[in-house]
Amino acid sequence: MSEETGPVFGDKFVDLMRAKAETDLRLSDFHPRTALKTVVHRIELPRFPVIDFHNHLDSMNPKDVLAVMDRCGVEHVVNITMQVGDRALKIMDRYYAAAPDRFSSIGWMDWGGIERRDFTQLTIDRLHRLIEHGACGIKFWKDFGLTLRGGDGELLRIDDERFAPIFEECGKLGLPVMFHTADPTAFFDPIDADNERYEELAAHPDWGFSSSPVSRRTLLAQRNRVIARHTGATFVGAHCAESSEDLGFLAEQMDALPNLLIDISARTPELGRQPYTARAFFLKYADRILFGTDLLPEVEMYRIYYRFLETADEYFEYPSHVSRQGRWNIYGVFLPDEVLRKVYRENALKLLPKLR
Ligand SMILES: [Zn+2]
Repeated sequence: MSEETGPVFGDKFVDLMRAKAETDLRLSDFHPRTALKTVVHRIELPRFPVIDFHNHLDSMNPKDVLAVMDRCGVEHVVNITMQVGDRALKIMDRYYAAAPDRFSSIGWMDWGGIERRDFTQLTIDRLHRLIEHGACGIKFWKDFGLTLRGGDGELLRIDDERFAPIFEECGKLGLPVMFHTADPTAFFDPIDADNERYEELAAHPDWGFSSSPVSRRTLLAQRNRVIARHTGATFVGAHCAESSEDLGFLAEQMDALPNLLIDISARTPELGRQPYTARAFFLKYADRILFGTDLLPEVEMYRIYYRFLETADEYFEYPSHVSRQGRWNIYGVFLPDEVLRKVYRENALKLLPKLR
């Protein structure tokens, strides 16, 4: 045995660490390019017309969005307005006026007046106004349960009985309720070397909730209790109901909550890293999965979604906004036509009566 291979101590150890430091590459300087030569299918147009059930278009010009939609086979986009009150109604009217059969709107839950005794009735009145302006849903964002506080300063619970009449009314009105509850698993983990989205979170530490007093699973449980309680209402779990890292858990929730649908927006980076499991999930729950993107409407963005859903292409970049999630690539799930048709369009039509 040469003395080089034995344990090293003292000065020799210091020399060794110094040599290692010189070859260490900073993470931000590491940009590996794949050496794989794989088949590339360019999907210019989707195999069936597409309804994007999850997007945010408030700051955009409807004409520009329509131009993108026409170029890549998007029949209809649902704008989830992020405004409330008159500003929201104005945006909804703007899209309706531009092309009533190409755009729908989902309203944003207005927490203004939460301290008022009549907040529930106030909200129900607001829902009616949204519907008068053509709203096809109401969205509850992740602040509900995580950061929003009531008049007493306490964190609001999603399953607080106080809000039950709101969901009851949504059921009566046939107004789907979209929940974006919690966030990706990594956002609730410490921002450290073990975190799979370390680079993204290091750049945006305010996206992390590892010090939140409420856990991810608690938030999802609160949300699920509401969905279970209001069987007369239809719920949409945005972003795979925030369970895309664990499709077994997502399947359990789908089985337990028949009035829950999900959208796949912004979750191809998870789905596309587990293509066998994801494909089986798409096939099994084909009637309850909605196409959505949650990304700036751009032709290439839509085409990557189509490539993911339609082809068996391997190891390609996922659609994303400028802040990438991680250094992984995705695989296509080559959905059969009867599943594609439902995911792209037919399931959304069930929630969009004006298009039927
Ligand atoms: Zn969104």
